Amino acid sequence: MPRVETQAISVEEIEREIASGSRRLVFSPSIEAVFENYSARPRLHMMMTAGVVAMILYDLFLIVDFVTLNDMFHVMIFLRIGIFTPIVLSMVVTSYYFKPSAFILESLTLAAGFVAVALPTIAMMFSESSYRLNYQYGSLLVMMFSTIVSRLRFRFAVAGLVSMLSIQLATTYISGAFDAETYLGIVMFFATACVLITLTTYYLEHGERRSFLFALRGQLLREQIEASARTDPLTGLFNRRHLAETGDGIWQDAVDLPRAVSVILLDIDHFKAFNDSQGHIAGDSCLRTVSRCISEIAEERHGLTFRFGGEEMLVLLPGAGVAEAMVTAEFMRRGIENAAIPHPGVGGFVTASIGVASGIAPETDIASLIAAADHALYAAKHAGRNRVMAEAVRAAAEEADVLAAA
Ligand code: GH3
Ligand code: MG
Ligand code: MG
Repeated sequence: MPRVETQAISVEEIEREIASGSRRLVFSPSIEAVFENYSARPRLHMMMTAGVVAMILYDLFLIVDFVTLNDMFHVMIFLRIGIFTPIVLSMVVTSYYFKPSAFILESLTLAAGFVAVALPTIAMMFSESSYRLNYQYGSLLVMMFSTIVSRLRFRFAVAGLVSMLSIQLATTYISGAFDAETYLGIVMFFATACVLITLTTYYLEHGERRSFLFALRGQLLREQIEASARTDPLTGLFNRRHLAETGDGIWQDAVDLPRAVSVILLDIDHFKAFNDSQGHIAGDSCLRTVSRCISEIAEERHGLTFRFGGEEMLVLLPGAGVAEAMVTAEFMRRGIENAAIPHPGVGGFVTASIGVASGIAPETDIASLIAAADHALYAAKHAGRNRVMAEAVRAAAEEADVLAAA
């Protein structure tokens, strides 16, 4: 099943719908809207295909007309080629271009089925052919095709069958071609067929709806698992696992279109002392506040925030050069300061030190960028904490080279 646009539906809502085991062919309004939205396109295609197939088969029945309703053959040519074919063709073309609502589409299919039964049975009324009894069984094929094959929704199928059965029995009666016993047999035959078709359309739609619920639940659960696999449970930020995936994606895109990327690495100052004086629970709450503070600022600049380590957060800013990243980092530093989380351990408020590094992807790889940001962070700590410092990636790379040569 292709991905369903789930909007705001929860797994619990779907579980409730499944557990209710409802025999009704309608979901709660929110799930019904998703179901309609999901099935609209395939139904449109299916009904257009069914329309074309029906038209071809219907015209091929001219062979049957020639054999069994020969005295009305010229009329049947006109009814099949001159009336039914253009009606169905215009329905298919209109549906293709105007994408009608489900209601209109079902109504059109229903109407086409009615016309398909009405035309030959009306012609039969004026025929003297001795094959009229056999001839009218063609109606059964139309009844089955327009409901079961076209997968008409149940209530439309019922309306369609009632109208098709009525015109069928009325024309047969008015024709006066059959005695009472034969007519009763025809009534019993068609009425029973319609009941069976009604049951079939009910079970088909019910089954389709149940499978939809299970598939939707599966998709939502999978999305939940995927989301939790990339999220840090304490802060709600992305985790390091997702950093690796995101980095791969950004660097892969940059192979065709090189672009600036900045990394902001943030570490809370004297956090051990905070935990020691305020307790671990307060420490967790402080982590959440700081995370919220920086992720809001990052989001405004289309950045992504990750929990990098214990009290270290990393912000990835695709498209940002060093100047923009420095301004953003300074915003974050001030934001944390302004959150005014008391830190009795240092006799003031919680602050953070920040290292910034910028480079051009794919030339500069993500590991070098993070190493450079870490280097800058280290410098910020050494310079007295609660400040932002930047590092030129090339310098870090050169330094790494020197270290490697040593
Ligand atoms: P500095 O200014 O040099 O960064 O000092 P610091 O005390 O922040 O650095 P240090 O690395 O010594 O301590 C980090 C502390 O962060 C130690 C650890 O207990 C705490 N920490 C790490 N993860 C968590 C967490 O999930 N919750 C809480 N409450 N504390 C955490
Ligand atoms: Mg640290
Ligand atoms: Mg720290």
